[in-house]
Formats: sequence, C-alpha cells, structure tokens
Amino acid sequence: ARRAALSASTGPGATSDGHKVPLLANIGGPADVPAAVEAGAEGVGLFRTEFLFLDDSKQAPSEEKQVEAYRKVLEAFPEGRVVVRVLDAGADKPLDFLTPAEEPNPALGVRGLRSLLDHPDVLRTQLTALAKAVEGLPVYLEVMAPMVADRTDAKAFADACRAAGLRAKFGAMVEIPSAALRARSVLQEVEFLSLGTNDLAQYTFAADRQVGAVSRLQDPWQPALLDLVAASADAAKAEGKSCGVCGEAAADPLLACVLTGLGVTSLSMGAKAIPYVRATLAKHTLAQCERAAAAARATDTADEARAAAQTVLSGE
Ligand code: PEP
Ligand code: MG
Repeated sequence: ARRAALSASTGPGATSDGHKVPLLANIGGPADVPAAVEAGAEGVGLFRTEFLFLDDSKQAPSEEKQVEAYRKVLEAFPEGRVVVRVLDAGADKPLDFLTPAEEPNPALGVRGLRSLLDHPDVLRTQLTALAKAVEGLPVYLEVMAPMVADRTDAKAFADACRAAGLRAKFGAMVEIPSAALRARSVLQEVEFLSLGTNDLAQYTFAADRQVGAVSRLQDPWQPALLDLVAASADAAKAEGKSCGVCGEAAADPLLACVLTGLGVTSLSMGAKAIPYVRATLAKHTLAQCERAAAAARATDTADEARAAAQTVLSGE
C-alpha cells in the first residue's frame, strides 16, 4: 500500500493548498542523474563537484574534462534548474594541491570558498568550464559557493563568476552561523541562498560532523538551527530572493514541512527521499506547516521540537 501511495505521488512538490516547493536532487555527478529523474526531481539543488577532483589529488581536472561532466548533468534537465556548487575541498575532503598540509583545526581552516580564493586559477577554470557547458542549453543554471562567511566572501565569489562570463544566477551557501545572522548583507552580493544544514549544525554547535560522540548536537531539529534557518529565509523574503535547503535536513519528510513553514523556498535531497517528502508535503497546508514550525521553535530540544511538529501535523 505504501508503494502504491508513493507512486501516485508524482509531479511538482507542493503543500495541499498548492504552495509550490520545488523538490530537487543532491547529486555527486552524472552517474546520479538517472535516479534523480526516476524520482521525479524538478532539477538538481546541489551538484557536489568534488567527485571530479578525486581522481587526481595532485592537480585539478582539465577544463575539457569538466565541461564534459557538467554538460552531461545540464542536458538531463532541459526544462529544470541545476544548482552547481563549486569545489568544496578541505576538512573532510582534503586535496593535496589545495589544502594546507598542517592545520590544527581543518574544519576551521582553509576549506570551501577559502581554498578557491587562495587558488583563483582553479576557481576560474571551473567557472569557465561551467560557462562553456551551459552554452546553447535552455536549462536554468545557478552556481553557488560553499562556506561563505560574510558579504566580503559573497562579493569575491560573484566577482569571479562575472569575470568568467558565466550566464547563471550566483548564490551563497549558508553553512556558517555568521552568514545566517547577516543574511541580508550577504544577499546584497548574490541572488540566492542555499542552507547547508550539515555544516551549519557543525558550526552552530561546535560539534564535528565526523565525530559520533557529539552526534546529538548534529540533529537538524535543534531549535537553534531552526532559528538560523528562519533568519535566512526571512532575509531572503525581505530581499525578494530565494532560500533553499540542501543539507540532510530536507530529506526528513516531517522536517521538510517545518522548513517549508519557516519560509524555505526549495528542498534538495538524495533522490530516494523525494517521493516521501512529496507525499508528506501534499498532506498539509502551508498554514499548518507554519504552525508546526512555530511549535517546533517554541521548544528547547531537538526531541521536543520533533514531537511538537508531529503533534501539530497529525492533529489535523
Ligand atoms: C551541508 O553542509 O549541509 C552540505 C549540503 O554540504 P556538504 O554536506 O557537502 O558539506
Ligand atoms: Mg557543507
């Protein structure tokens, strides 16, 4: 019965009263595209481009190799949108030619956008490859930077995109609390935000995402994390811009309703989760999602937040 209910659930993501929340896929490369299409993804909300760089830790892949990989993904969503994240190296994903060999705290060191700004040639090649890959395609390309801390970072990234002649929207990931707290300032430089809730939880709670002993603090239901999501979504609304979520939080159907209630404008997740999130979202109105979000934020722990949202959404 569960299977039947899910297969009946197709089409764009929306609440029961028709408030649209595009459901997008997180992918690591062209090999993940068929599963995303099969799940009915409306596009790609996070294309993690790291995979291309893993074959050779001594140098970046050639521009031609990158154009080929990006084009394969862009061609798969002719009418959809594809959000490509530029290389996020460092910390849990070190690369010899980019990542400093000895850092006392790699997660707090030169990673993500920071390593690209230290190696402008690598960023330039990636942006030029994206500009070439999208040429002649109708797809709606968006490009975003990981680990944006503030407006200065956002401007540096947008300047690099413009210099590469990229025809796309430029955005910033919100993974550092400073970017969520000053989201309106970041939005003076870029056109959209995308919340990376995995890193945002890590940096909000000072809890390494790779350390199981502190996993309680990695729970995306933590009310403090919901507050930062709300701050980002409110800022985007005030600026007339969009704010999606592409961290693991979006794959939890109940939390997806809460995120929608907080004002998030799209949800991106592993393809497998899309049918479940679509089905759950379709059972609730936007007003119910907003009530669930307010109830969750009024609690003090992740467990209480989850229970409060559950009560609101099941008591209807
Ligand atoms: C995140 O941090 O939530 C995110 C989407 O990026 P990654 O998991 O690749 O660091
Ligand atoms: Mg991240």
